[in-house]
Amino acid sequence: MTAEGGSLKYKRLLVKLSGEALMGKAGYGLDTSVVDRLATELAEARAAGCALSVVVGGGNIFRGLQGAAKGMDRATADYMGMLATVMNALALQSALEAAKAPARVLSAIPMPTVCEPYVRHRALYHIERERIVIFAAGTGNPFFTTDTAATLRAIEMGCDAVAKATQVDGVYSSDPKKDPNATRFDTLTYSEVLARDLRVMDGAAIALARDNHLPVIVFSIDGPGNLINVVRGSARATVIHD
Ligand code: UDP
Repeated sequence: MTAEGGSLKYKRLLVKLSGEALMGKAGYGLDTSVVDRLATELAEARAAGCALSVVVGGGNIFRGLQGAAKGMDRATADYMGMLATVMNALALQSALEAAKAPARVLSAIPMPTVCEPYVRHRALYHIERERIVIFAAGTGNPFFTTDTAATLRAIEMGCDAVAKATQVDGVYSSDPKKDPNATRFDTLTYSEVLARDLRVMDGAAIALARDNHLPVIVFSIDGPGNLINVVRGSARATVIHD
């Protein structure tokens, strides 16, 4: 086993990938060429010595709130959303293994014929053996999001930070795609994010990060090499901290 980290700024990192990050321009579902590219980025960061784990979302397939808006029972719709994240996790595992990066899917909803159940010590065991751990099924509870799952797992895994992959290079004062006067922040405090309602992550996720002093890095996954730059501490990104 190689030493974890070396000169990297973030030696143990959890990356949050939204479901939308996996769908490319398709508008729904998975774009395998996009999943392959993301897997290459993750494999590169792992090869550089960063102990990586990943939480994947499910918004490219199903969101609980969408189902609830159409009259479904919210909790049931949320379980469907969590199942969607398992499909994404399996796709990412397949792409990682093809990129020669050993990966394990651990699901918060046990489904033993598909993947391992989430057991904290098991996840830590895989990470210590240089496997990329993909956490599926969010927190396993309805009424939560995968952002909260990402923050929770990052704390449980003893990560140095949680890195949220988005399509923009950080947090802006307003939506940079709509507002030409939007300004970008290099750093923010948790309280600023909550007080300004900046919608980086949902409030529960930011509050959990704040209470546990877990830095949140918001970066763009669109540019090749961006993740390795995050790990080295040289990425154009917003860092949220105390
Ligand atoms: N979800 C849930 N509990 C969790 C995580 C996720 O109920 O702990 C459900 C929820 O319905 C959510 C869906 O799974 O809409 C997909 O997750 P999310 O919306 O966070 O995915 P993303 O936006 O990151 O693609």
